[in-house]
Amino acid sequence: MTANLLDFDAEGLTAWFAQQGEKPFRARQVLRWMHQSGADDFHGMSDIAKSLREKLLATATIAAAPLISDKLSDDGTRKFLFDVGSGNAVETVFIPEADRGTLCVSSQAGCALECAFCSTGRQGFNRNLSTAEIIGQLWQANRVLKNNPHDERVISNVVMMGMGEPLANFDNLIPALRLMLDDHAYGLSRRRVTVSTSGIVPAIDRLAQACPVALAVSLHAPTDGLRDKLVPINRKYPLAELMAACQRYLHHAPRDFITFEYVMLDGVNDRDADARALLHLVRDVPCKFNLIPFNPFPDSGFRRSPADRVRHFAAILIDAGIVTTTRKTRGEDIDAACGQLAGQVNDKSRRLVRAAMARSDVSTRANLHP
Ligand code: SAH
Ligand code: SF4
Repeated sequence: MTANLLDFDAEGLTAWFAQQGEKPFRARQVLRWMHQSGADDFHGMSDIAKSLREKLLATATIAAAPLISDKLSDDGTRKFLFDVGSGNAVETVFIPEADRGTLCVSSQAGCALECAFCSTGRQGFNRNLSTAEIIGQLWQANRVLKNNPHDERVISNVVMMGMGEPLANFDNLIPALRLMLDDHAYGLSRRRVTVSTSGIVPAIDRLAQACPVALAVSLHAPTDGLRDKLVPINRKYPLAELMAACQRYLHHAPRDFITFEYVMLDGVNDRDADARALLHLVRDVPCKFNLIPFNPFPDSGFRRSPADRVRHFAAILIDAGIVTTTRKTRGEDIDAACGQLAGQVNDKSRRLVRAAMARSDVSTRANLHP
């Protein structure tokens, strides 16, 4: 069977090369070609003997999910849509800022956790992405951004805040995270790679052992009663357990705080009393808060808190000494804002896929009709 070499982190690739009777340094060379030079085939790997290149051509591929569309927002945010087969697509968002470029990466097609205010959750769960499909988003975005001579922006940070719950796809996530950190691949520091979770407690502990990167926890409510409704996984792992897991994680984390994300829903979780209850909840967890004004989608049933309310809520947290930021909404015009990612395939992208299928040998691949 042909191996997709994007599925392997350094250790996995070394093991695969060993199976082929090849030395570990070959794995490092190929890793650099793939992830640093963006190679998508073996022909150009000039420091690798021709005989090995031919062997690789016969036994391996370098295959990310096909890029279907690439949209640029007025504010510079860029949204990539990838075909992951069987009518599913996932989205990746590049967010340029003055001092950094952040790539927001998806971990699943859909999500099973059904948070009430999330468009991905509304769509239901399709499947876990493979390691190649997760790291392939970074690989492909890098290739596209580097190929633009008018655009010097680079990816300096990765946040696992796209579609899906990363810690529900643990085994495929970890090799992808390791590639992000690997000096022979993307070489990002642990502080610049963030996993965002809705709070799968045992997996937070496993992440601390397997690959401790920065952690963001989607809190969204100060009490179990409300959180049970907004973030249903809370019924399984209630707030007291979640706070204890955050404290344990801090022993391993690359930063000395946890980031709590808090979506601001008008009249639901944005009262002064909610802010004060939050202060009580997190009293033993060194943390920062990131308030996210709710991003609407059709039939969500929620409204965004007014800007004044968000400012007032933030002020209560700040007055108590908690660093609190409010997330700027970016890329709204292309539906790329947090919680709006639904992997929607628009008519133009459908046409592109049909054209690609007509052109080549991909006609057996599942089509993209939703
Ligand atoms: N599943 C993970 C990561 C993906 S969601 C998680 O839940 O943490 C990334 C962030 O966007 C989470 O904090 C999520 O709660 C938030 N979010 C979801 N829907 C949103 C919406 N409609 N408006 C604003 N933020 C939203
Ligand atoms: Fe899944 Fe996160 Fe959306 Fe909840 S907020 S449904 S965990 S993607």
